[in-house]
Amino acid sequence: MRGTVKDGAMLSRRHLVGLGLGSLATATLTPRPSHAQGSPALGPNRLVLLGTKGGPAIRQGYTPAPSSNLIVYDNVPYVIDTGYGVSFKLIDAKFPLPALRYVFITHHHSDHNAEFGLLMNNAWAIGLKTPVDAYGPKGMHGLADGFWQAYRFDIETRMADEGRPDLRKLVAVHEYTEGPVMEGKGVKVTALRNVHPPITESFALKFEFPGKTIVFSGDTAYFPPLAEFAKGADILVHEVMYAPALERLLAKTPNAPTLMSHLKASHSLPDEVGRIATQAGVKALVLNHLVPADDPSVTEEVWVDAVRPTWKGDLVVAHDLLEIAL
Ligand SMILES: [Zn+2]
Ligand SMILES: [Zn+2]
Repeated sequence: MRGTVKDGAMLSRRHLVGLGLGSLATATLTPRPSHAQGSPALGPNRLVLLGTKGGPAIRQGYTPAPSSNLIVYDNVPYVIDTGYGVSFKLIDAKFPLPALRYVFITHHHSDHNAEFGLLMNNAWAIGLKTPVDAYGPKGMHGLADGFWQAYRFDIETRMADEGRPDLRKLVAVHEYTEGPVMEGKGVKVTALRNVHPPITESFALKFEFPGKTIVFSGDTAYFPPLAEFAKGADILVHEVMYAPALERLLAKTPNAPTLMSHLKASHSLPDEVGRIATQAGVKALVLNHLVPADDPSVTEEVWVDAVRPTWKGDLVVAHDLLEIAL
């Protein structure tokens, strides 16, 4: 176990809370020799949990960022969700913004899409000149077009004044629904509609690379078909909500009287998340999109204890900028 954690050097010991750490490291978290060196540009294959809180609220004191994730595989980057703070989180993760290539939005709640346009703009500000393909459910064109409209003056001023390329032409926007999303060299991305009322265009996403499969649940209530979708995946990144802390959370949100019913109908409890992971037989489960993520009484141990009754395998509680070697 000791050697294991050391081998998976990107994952600090305190974030590895598993019963079978040996299998976790050898099967999931240790860089494969063929990819371990990666590219000098983007580094080794890895999953980075950039922003790990559920919901758009940011409050005084330490607060994790809303949802965003990065996969780098074979020197190609994939950003999954662009919640507020994604640009700074990518920079903190030492990712060069002009290297952006693929962006995926799971659904159009603001904790997943708020910074989409600004991320493009921030990459452009420091040198983006190559195409970006951005995929999202229905509404993705509106999200991009609205941003281009709002920032038209700046974009056109800088094009004329600074000789920059037209950002609007660099970003190709695609709307997807359930089924195949994109297939590229060495990657296949598939969507499964999940259960996140009242939003119907909300999806889990599966990324299949040669020898490695990563599934993101997206925001969803307990949804047994997700287990089939994630069958045998190396990593399942699943949202989670801790019910005993919700009253305290709601007390801090005085303008949303029906928030509790939304949370209960639209998110997954720890035992449900564990059940999905067990049914899917994944190699490792990552708890992400934590609700709440900024309640000091809901510690890593609390999350682990809540999931353990239904999941005995390797378990990681995400925090911002946690890296998992692929
Ligand atoms: Zn969310
Ligand atoms: Zn949501």
